Amino acid sequence: MKTADAKAGLVQLRERLQQVNDIERAAAVLSWDQATYMPPGGAAARGRQMAVLGSLAHERFTDPVVGTLLDALMPWAEGCSADDDDAALVRVARRKYERSVRVPNSLVAELSAHQAASYDAWTRARPANDFAAVRPLLEKTVDLSRRLAECFAPYEHVMDPLIDMYDYGMRVSSVSRVFADLRTQLTPLVDAVAAQGEIDDSFLKQRFAEKRQWDFGVVVVKKLGYDFERGRQDKTHHPFCTTFSIGDVRITTRFNEHDLGDGLFSTMHEAGHAMYEQGIDARFEGTPLAEGTSAGVHESQSRLWENVIGRSREFWEFYYPKLQRKFGRELRDVSLEQFHRAINKVRRSLIRVDADELTYNLHVILRFDLERQMLEGTLAAKDLPEAWNARYASDLGVTPQDDRDGCLQDVHWFGGIVGGSFQGYTLGNVLSAMFYRTALNAHPEIPEQVRRGRFSTLHRWLVKNIYRHGSKYTAPELIRCVTGGDLDVGPYVSYLRGKYTDLYGIP
Ligand code: ZN
Repeated sequence: MKTADAKAGLVQLRERLQQVNDIERAAAVLSWDQATYMPPGGAAARGRQMAVLGSLAHERFTDPVVGTLLDALMPWAEGCSADDDDAALVRVARRKYERSVRVPNSLVAELSAHQAASYDAWTRARPANDFAAVRPLLEKTVDLSRRLAECFAPYEHVMDPLIDMYDYGMRVSSVSRVFADLRTQLTPLVDAVAAQGEIDDSFLKQRFAEKRQWDFGVVVVKKLGYDFERGRQDKTHHPFCTTFSIGDVRITTRFNEHDLGDGLFSTMHEAGHAMYEQGIDARFEGTPLAEGTSAGVHESQSRLWENVIGRSREFWEFYYPKLQRKFGRELRDVSLEQFHRAINKVRRSLIRVDADELTYNLHVILRFDLERQMLEGTLAAKDLPEAWNARYASDLGVTPQDDRDGCLQDVHWFGGIVGGSFQGYTLGNVLSAMFYRTALNAHPEIPEQVRRGRFSTLHRWLVKNIYRHGSKYTAPELIRCVTGGDLDVGPYVSYLRGKYTDLYGIP
């Protein structure tokens, strides 16, 4: 293809992608409204409206015209250099297109009807502790997930195509190796921490007025670099971040008046996701390049700000006196030392979403292993509760009393598919340490700046090396390009070991 033809093809492709993007982002506005301000009476119509937009976007995108354009442009793109923006656009659009057209509409419809029914049953089964009620639905979810993977055959492992949907370029083989390594290194550290006895965090459970929590959180995330001129924050049951355009990336949060850490850290977490999206190169607007490149890399940004920075000693040396002024009565007699230990308290527990930074990964790794076994057919859905409890006993030293606090706790397998949606959480933690270490090598002054409440050097480094690229590079490409190496648990394990050995006074 001649350059002039490629240019003309690109103009047409961009136009089409922009339309699809506009429809998808309009649907995101409806979904954000549903989770924040919509009165209950709006639910039925809203579901219908979002479904219409969803199928409209799908129709526009899978139009054979798009396929023809991409077919014509692919050889040209393959001839371009690896960092050419337009060639990246063609590659990423092509990948999305393949994903959309390979799955037959009948399977999409069957899956979404089943997911709705399964989710509905789960919302009742969990409080009732009734695994039997969702067991046949889970069996069908496993079957449908396998059929979905089948659309992308041949593959090395049945879960690979499902992982690709969230963490493109990662494989069961590579993730399993990293996770097994991490589990081996974390388990003795968790044991050593547990042997030191409990940290007192009872003062975090006093009553902390919501309004003051909100105000403090806003001041913090503004300082970190979240831009309120191109975003806003609202309240919701389950905090999330959503993008309508690079100029409008919103976060939501929630507060618990009897748990100071809850709202504060979830606000920083979502701001981390949002700063990634706000930092994407404006030239990518309206294209599939204008989003984070994978679930794992996205989570690395939320975790970096929430944990690596937000739970660090340096951060609180600056912010704790300010927090104490905000909550004079509640925190008057609590020292910085006590506070810092309390927000990093480690506890072997049953519930993933309440887990601390150290044990969190053990919750994720066991889910990843169990879903892999269900897809391989070596674990039947009916045996899930038993397998779940056995893994909690061996990995975390605790056993759920019932399935409510056991295998029924997460929505993922009951409102989605089995496979693909858990590994990103832990990949994100591993990556947060790899990226942070690389940033420190370039700018050893970062911790000293954090101690003075300055985050711009780190923020700028992240924009330059990670944020601005959006989806231009795949996660494995980006990791290599930024750190010079492949996915590696080393930096993360040494970060955790250093931090918790210190905090818990482990000899
Ligand atoms: Zn997140």
